[in-house]
Amino acid sequence: MIIVTRRNLDQGKVDEGLSLLSKENLAARTVSWNGRTLVVTHVRPSDGIITKLEAMGIAERFVLPSHTAQLASLEFQSEKSTVKVGDAEIGGKRLTVIAGPCSVESRDQLLNVAHAVKRAGASLLRGGAFKPRTSPYEFQGLGELGLRLLSQAREETGLPVVTEIMEPSRVELVAKYADMLQVGARSAQNFPLLRAVGESKLPVILKRGMMTTIDEWLQAAEYILLEGNPNVVLCERGIRTFERATRNTLDLSAVAVLRKKTHLPVLVDPSHATGGRDLVAPMAKAAVAAGADGLMIEVHPTPDKALSDANQQLSPEEFEKLMNELEPIAQAVGRTIH
Ligand code: PEP
Ligand code: MN
Repeated sequence: MIIVTRRNLDQGKVDEGLSLLSKENLAARTVSWNGRTLVVTHVRPSDGIITKLEAMGIAERFVLPSHTAQLASLEFQSEKSTVKVGDAEIGGKRLTVIAGPCSVESRDQLLNVAHAVKRAGASLLRGGAFKPRTSPYEFQGLGELGLRLLSQAREETGLPVVTEIMEPSRVELVAKYADMLQVGARSAQNFPLLRAVGESKLPVILKRGMMTTIDEWLQAAEYILLEGNPNVVLCERGIRTFERATRNTLDLSAVAVLRKKTHLPVLVDPSHATGGRDLVAPMAKAAVAAGADGLMIEVHPTPDKALSDANQQLSPEEFEKLMNELEPIAQAVGRTIH
């Protein structure tokens, strides 16, 4: 149960409520949420306790979570969330375009692409340092060196950086260099990782797992929110279906469905969704038209030579052209992109 306490309740009152619960052996944890303390228990307190919490002026309302997400839902918060990362605000009027290579490969490669995507209007730089590769024989990323290069690129361009985190034990290391953490599709239901990125309080991109339903995805987001980290951004990157013409099947309807269910910002990644360079631009445009808050796009100075995802990365010229083509579509849906 979520016990929503009164706004600006003092800590003494919260503690009184917690000791009442502990007398009944109810494990409870507190979460700060928009100026209130939420007290979360996994077991429903007795009616007697509920009445006392109300009578003592502690509880304002009680929410009994069903299996669906609560803090992520529009019922819990009707106002759309925005997530700030450096100068970028994800979920605001201006679309957020996150661009950069699949993997950080070298200083030259990263800086070249970082300057190019900045010039074209991207607001965040992406790049993988710890890569979740399907085969253990494939390039696994530069690790901490990759992180250092990302932070150099931030210093040179001013773009905040986002990079994937795969292991809870590495959150501290990655947080030293990155402005935003990415939980990839393959880790979307790694619950210890979700808790750890929640605890970090850094902004988080939570990609949709390739076999994750929208409700399961929102529940994964709930793990992060429940650690008191409201800075969660969802990213649709395609799901696995029987279709093999594309790498994954971009579920654009998820954007519209999420709008009806959650206040969290929603991005679309047409690069991993399609797996093909020619398909990125049409799907990026469709995503903007469908109401996404932004895009994540892979860009590489020499895509054919990329050490990972060579088929889907755009050249800087292709990226710049796409950014210009997106402008009128953004305007048509009441957004801007530059
Ligand atoms: C990525 O963005 O680098 C990535 C590996 O994507 P996904 O987790 O969506 O496959
Ligand atoms: Mn990739």
